[in-house]
Amino acid sequence: MKNNDLSHETPIIVWFRKDLRLDDNHALHAAAQTGRSIIPVYIREPSQYGTGPLGAAQAWWLHHSLKDLEKALGGLGSRLMLRGGEPGSVLAALIAETGASTVHWNRRYDPNGIAVDGPLKETLGVNGITVKSFAGQLLHEPSRLKTGSGTPYRVYTPFWRALEASGEPDQPLEQPDALVSPAEWPGSEDLASWALLPTEPDWARTFSEIWTPGEAAALERLEAFVEDDLSGYKTRRDLPGTDGTSRLSPHLAMGEISPARIWHATRKLKNVPAEDVITFRKELVWRDFSYHLLFHNPQLPSENLNRKYDAFAWAENDDAFKRWTKGQTGYPIVDAGMRQLWRHGTMHNRVRMIAASFLIKDLLIDWRRGETWFRDTLVDADPASNAASWQWVAGSGADASPFFRVFNPVLQGEKFDPDGIYVKTFVPELADLPAKFVHRPFETPESILDAAGVTLGVTYPKPLVDHAKARDRALAAYNKIKDAA
Ligand SMILES: Cc1cc2nc3c(=O)[nH]c(=O)nc-3n(C[C@H](O)[C@H](O)[C@H](O)COP(=O)(O)OP(=O)(O)OC[C@H]3O[C@@H](n4cnc5c(N)ncnc54)[C@H](O)[C@@H]3O)c2cc1C
Repeated sequence: MKNNDLSHETPIIVWFRKDLRLDDNHALHAAAQTGRSIIPVYIREPSQYGTGPLGAAQAWWLHHSLKDLEKALGGLGSRLMLRGGEPGSVLAALIAETGASTVHWNRRYDPNGIAVDGPLKETLGVNGITVKSFAGQLLHEPSRLKTGSGTPYRVYTPFWRALEASGEPDQPLEQPDALVSPAEWPGSEDLASWALLPTEPDWARTFSEIWTPGEAAALERLEAFVEDDLSGYKTRRDLPGTDGTSRLSPHLAMGEISPARIWHATRKLKNVPAEDVITFRKELVWRDFSYHLLFHNPQLPSENLNRKYDAFAWAENDDAFKRWTKGQTGYPIVDAGMRQLWRHGTMHNRVRMIAASFLIKDLLIDWRRGETWFRDTLVDADPASNAASWQWVAGSGADASPFFRVFNPVLQGEKFDPDGIYVKTFVPELADLPAKFVHRPFETPESILDAAGVTLGVTYPKPLVDHAKARDRALAAYNKIKDAA
């Protein structure tokens, strides 16, 4: 008689990476469908970010996300094994300990991930292990979309059109109802021993004012955003003083939610104007576009895509860089953004552009220093989106904002934070300035500064540079390279 109890067959190892979720997880779903026992594992790799070690803010996030995943797997009668080391040796050890003959994972598209996964798949295969890899981190595989001439895209709009024309992303898969456990669980490391959380000082304690890492919170956030804030997204998304965006990026960065799940949640909505849905989807597709760029240009985080920028005369100004990181530039919108980064490990997109432009163009500091700082301090740090966005602001990237378009931090502040709500939240020493002056304290009459308790150079810094002069200096530096090949 045929034995239908397949759980006695060899176990399948499901290797979780930046897909810390049960929902719409193709690797897990396919494993569950076999009915065989499953060993979920997370490996703490030497290069977890995708182009280097994980930043400190994201390490905090990872700790909580793994705890959440552990709990969710427990709900399905399973566990999460934690192991540290090179994935090749960790998997080899796990296979030897458990007799597993199959490994599943969801594909990743960052340079280090690709460098690890390709050879590993081959080695495991040679050793008789079946490796199955799945899609799901992006809306579309970055190798699939090509221009008419067969080359990768470098311009966003045709990329968006091609993606739209290729049809809706696949329907997301529901999470499995239960997972079969192996006869015996292998050993697991203790999450606390990974020391992912800061201790003294615990600079991340303010992160939980706004963030709850983990899949459950990601799905709740999506629902709340679609119900309450998607309508009006097109206009509100640019206003940092409002709650106008989804705040899904850190969840996406750790794969706690899939982009397909997000995309499909925005379909067939009765009370949301189509323009808001399209604008939101276009933002989501910027993430895919950034991965498309990274996949085809693995040097994106470290080299100018446009090589003429290699000759750019960057300034080595450590003091100015430090003041930028601390939110002490004397330009309120820049300082508010940099302090939001300290307090909550995030920064509104509009302000990221202003703060990045200030570093690159007003201070003439190499965009790579800014990229590295963001990588360490953002909870949503992402090897593709961070690098592509920095190169976009610098003008050195694909489809980039031209270098000569220099953001004026005062006018940007007045346009997008007209009442100064954002600035006053993160730069409380300016809280009593009238809205009319909050973005230009250095041009505010002394009597008004006095009344608001502001003493420039004492309670709030004087501007680090004069923006008009800094702009001229930046354009002069750009003119030296602009005609290079
Ligand atoms: C200098 C700079 C650095 C950045 N670094 C990162 C980063 O490390 N990680 C990151 O996820 N985003 C980065 N961004 C893009 C953007 O600022 C964030 O994705 C956005 O602020 C996240 O907030 P949200 O989830 O509320 O976005 P929403 O407006 O709700 O957008 C929905 C989703 O679309 C995606 N998205 C939106 N804008 C962009 C964009 N410009 N590029 C790529 N994807 C986008 C994100 O996944 C986001 O969660 C950077 C932008 C700049 C200018």
